[in-house]
Amino acid sequence: MVEIAHLLDELTCATCGTPNALWLYPVRGVAECRECGEKASVLPESLDGFDSIDGSGSLDGLDSDSYGGGR
Ligand SMILES: [Zn+2]
Repeated sequence: MVEIAHLLDELTCATCGTPNALWLYPVRGVAECRECGEKASVLPESLDGFDSIDGSGSLDGLDSDSYGGGR
C-alpha cells in the first residue's frame, strides 16, 4: 500500500535544521523529517471547524432574480 505523503516546502526541521526535509503524512496525521526521523503530530484545526461551516443561512442572501440568465 502506497502511503500518501506531501513534502512540506520551505519548512525547516526544528530538530536537525534541515530545510525541505519535512514530509506530511495526512493519513497518520504526522509530519516526519527525512533527515533525522523526527516526528511531529499534525492535528489540523480545520477538521474541528467543519461543525461550524454548517450554517446554510448565508445562502439566503442569494436572490435568483439577480442571476436572471435563463429567461
Ligand atoms: Zn530533522
